[in-house]
Amino acid sequence: MMVLLKKVDWVVQGDKMRLVFLGPPGAGKGTQAELLKKRYDYNHISTGEVLRQEIQKNTDLGKEVESYVNKGELAPDEIVTKIIKKWLKSLNNKKGIVLDGFPRNLTQAEYLEEDFSVDYVLYFDLEENEIVERLSNRLYCPQCEKFYNLKYNPPQNDNICDKCEKELIKRKDDTPEAIKKRLAVYNKNTHPLVKHYEEKGSLIHIDASKEIDKVFEQVLERIGLEETKI
Ligand code: ADP
Ligand code: AMP
Repeated sequence: MMVLLKKVDWVVQGDKMRLVFLGPPGAGKGTQAELLKKRYDYNHISTGEVLRQEIQKNTDLGKEVESYVNKGELAPDEIVTKIIKKWLKSLNNKKGIVLDGFPRNLTQAEYLEEDFSVDYVLYFDLEENEIVERLSNRLYCPQCEKFYNLKYNPPQNDNICDKCEKELIKRKDDTPEAIKKRLAVYNKNTHPLVKHYEEKGSLIHIDASKEIDKVFEQVLERIGLEETKI
């Protein structure tokens, strides 16, 4: 008997999913998004990273958002939604997509839903004392923008990037006051999105307290990447 294998093309493969990474600052969203990019060629945007680059280049947009970002407040929705729209339009491939740090409130989520469908929202859950610990020990390379952690993920040589050999720096919003502000902003504006996406049935819970590799294993397992990759 001949078995006909029908091509099921409506199944979204794990390496082509449209993902949102949601969670408090310092939960490891950027770290995990970079791993998906490196290992599975995902398109990755971090709205925070785009804003920091604009600030560093001293553009008009950078000047407009600098005080918000450095204080740990949310930048205006119109600016951030424009950034996302432009980036999504610029994609000319059918690879996976990770939105890291967007949406950050209900207005942004509703904006995204107007013309973009998300497969899964991964919620990186981490307790507050661990968040503060991670953010207080975070350093990054001003050249390649790789993040390190003095406690959990240190560079090979003291304060020097493993790849670029540039001196690592601290983000301006990783000060105790800005961290406190960012946590308050997260709890008030962003955390309600957990319920929003739960109700839509697209929320996946990730225990972000584990080591980086273990968190990545959870991510792969939850989005079924290993099983569906052909
Ligand atoms: P987010 O993008 O959510 O703000 P990051 O990815 O920048 O968070 O991670 C915050 C800090 O914690 C960084 O210094 C990073 O190296 C470190 N980190 C990330 N994931 C883990 C983890 N699973 N365990 C310990 N430290 C981590
Ligand atoms: P992050 O790199 O994700 O920690 O973001 C750093 C900062 O950039 C935040 O504290 C905000 O000031 C700003 N930012 C990033 N993403 C958004 C967003 N979606 N909406 C508003 N502000 C944002």
